[in-house]
Amino acid sequence: MGILTALIISPFNCRINIYTDSANCINIFNTRMQSGIVSPRQKLKQSNFLIWDLIFFLINEKHLEWLNSNDHDALCSIKVSKQQGNRIKKCNFIYLTIDIQQRNYPRLYSLGSIPCIECAYARDDNVHVGLCKEHSNQIINILTQAAHDLQELIITNTKDAGFDLDDTIRSSPLFNTTFDDILPQSHPGYLLIHHLVPSDLTLIFYNYIKDKKLRFSLFLKFFSTLMSSIDTLIWTRRASLIKQWESTLSITKNKKRFYRQRQKKRAPPPPAPD
Ligand SMILES: [Zn+2]
Repeated sequence: MGILTALIISPFNCRINIYTDSANCINIFNTRMQSGIVSPRQKLKQSNFLIWDLIFFLINEKHLEWLNSNDHDALCSIKVSKQQGNRIKKCNFIYLTIDIQQRNYPRLYSLGSIPCIECAYARDDNVHVGLCKEHSNQIINILTQAAHDLQELIITNTKDAGFDLDDTIRSSPLFNTTFDDILPQSHPGYLLIHHLVPSDLTLIFYNYIKDKKLRFSLFLKFFSTLMSSIDTLIWTRRASLIKQWESTLSITKNKKRFYRQRQKKRAPPPPAPD
């Protein structure tokens, strides 16, 4: 149902990434994509077949491209679900920064705004990730490396990349690293940090790789390498700083795990009226 809603509200002719950890959804989707025509008898055996009919109708009508990316071979392993869950959280700005933890476990954290674990200049929330002054050097390194990798990738995989590839990459706003101190929020790199795909990036792929299949596979290769370096240098690093800080306040995993149960014990429900 969530997938259907996403498709209904999406514009025509666009590419949609749907990240789901539902093995059933992925299986039904793949079966129906591969087999093409499904007999009414087969359809009736599928649960929610009307919803699936509508999903495929929308994909055709709206000329949508479907992307189900997965870095691991074993589909739906715990690792994949966790990775996909984290991606969804990052691009929806609900990853576990301190403000979200504070909302989820109000009795474990102090009241009021808690400053960024790294710079202490702003509230520790999802919006601040990428805008933190402690991230700017890492971002410059990430973008410089990415520009280099992208150029290599296109040169090795296309016959004639054209003399202007170097210029295109250099002048792309995405690879502009001349900002001082802090990454501006309007910089396309900010989207990358949050696992979103900036159009400045897809534009380069569209302009230099004409073959659709090749473009798609190279894009996935490039994007997943880029996302893992962003995760290592930014997200994972700050998550471990938060963990260290939490341990000084004796906020443990167990306290979070049993938080709801403890709260229930503390506040017994009001007695039922006679
Ligand atoms: Zn900060």
